Amino acid sequence: MTQYLDLGQIGPQEPHKSAQKRCCGCGGWFIPTRSNRRACRPTCRARASDRHRGLMPRFDWDQPEPKQTRMAALAALFRAHPGEWLEQHRLANVAGVAGFRERRRECCIRLGMTLERKRERLPSGAVLVFWRYVLPADLSQAVGEAEATV
Ligand SMILES: [Zn+2]
Repeated sequence: MTQYLDLGQIGPQEPHKSAQKRCCGCGGWFIPTRSNRRACRPTCRARASDRHRGLMPRFDWDQPEPKQTRMAALAALFRAHPGEWLEQHRLANVAGVAGFRERRRECCIRLGMTLERKRERLPSGAVLVFWRYVLPADLSQAVGEAEATV
């Protein structure tokens, strides 16, 4: 025998908190009409996209993931020392010891940076690994010209 639930007795269904999502545009709670919906309305979607592309400042609840921050920090360190060999421990200090390998890969793939690696054996037998950010050819030429005029 099939039993039917009398919805009239329960009353209007209030969506549970777990059905709600944080809007990526305004940061407010909303009930998505589709599971892949991330913004509560089209303007919020456009705003989130602008923010993602850096056209708008991020809000405190909209901070990039620590992962991205670490990658940005590593990229910034490399860019501050173009062509300079940097010891791996120093880089891992910025990028995170466990995540260094992954952050470095992201710098290459997502930011298109060219990184070179070299190993050096100390008299004690310890091996040090160095990384170097190689400037793109056109950019290093521009830097060379700028330095020549100074
Ligand atoms: Zn919104």
